[in-house]
Amino acid sequence: ITGSNRGLGFELASQYAADGWTVIATARTPDDDDALQNLAAQYGSVRIEPLDVTNHAQIDALAEKLRGTAIDVLINNAGVLGDPNIQRLGNLDFSIAEHLFATNTLGPLKIADAFLEHVAASETKKVMNVSSIVGSITLTGGNIYFYRASKTALNMLMRNFAKDTEKRGIIVGMIHPGVVDTDMSAPFDIPKVTVEESATGVRDVIEWYTPDTSGTFMQYTGEPMAW
Ligand code: NDP
Repeated sequence: ITGSNRGLGFELASQYAADGWTVIATARTPDDDDALQNLAAQYGSVRIEPLDVTNHAQIDALAEKLRGTAIDVLINNAGVLGDPNIQRLGNLDFSIAEHLFATNTLGPLKIADAFLEHVAASETKKVMNVSSIVGSITLTGGNIYFYRASKTALNMLMRNFAKDTEKRGIIVGMIHPGVVDTDMSAPFDIPKVTVEESATGVRDVIEWYTPDTSGTFMQYTGEPMAW
């Protein structure tokens, strides 16, 4: 699980650990993450590894370090929204787009590619990606240009990844977790679901994915999401 030190990633790590899974919890600067350190102290099955999803050399190094370790469910969760105020017409700061794409789009593909053999060696063989309703072309509602496009492109890359890996039995998912009450959604005064409810739904949907639904875009409730 990438970005497992706070928000949805931390809740996913906590729920999987409580459920008896072995969790490889990655975070940019885990030494500073007290909650994650406490989780690892509570559950011996939680292994913390430093990982910045924009650092491809670090991704390759971790893949090498974990060579021979089967990963049943790889979760690309880490993401950044960026300041919405510089992603609206008349005030578009193009300089942040590169960072959003590096984190939300290219990082997940790099990780999926680097850890493909680990996933292929597992029983479950799932590559799951936390996407977003705001990446839906059909449902777009204006503003947050770069964040939206980073998630739309993530969906494209992962559907493509699903095509290329289906013969190996890899199951790929893109999941909208709901509007979740985390640091990321703080700028938006709209109804939100709790992180516990979202993570529970996301875990159910991850379990429900099959080879037949690989490459599809789902909501955390199990309903399909419009592209
Ligand atoms: P938070 O802002 O609470 O957490 C984001 C997480 O991503 C943090 O752990 C953060 O680590 C990590 N992260 C950011 N950049 C990097 C990086 N370069 N390398 C490694 N980790 C990084 O957000 P959420 O928990 O809400 O978001 C989780 C996912 O859900 C994201 O992909 C987001 O786009 C998606 N999402 C969220 C929604 C919401 O309403 N909250 C709605 C739809 C989708 P650090 O502490 O080091 O910054």
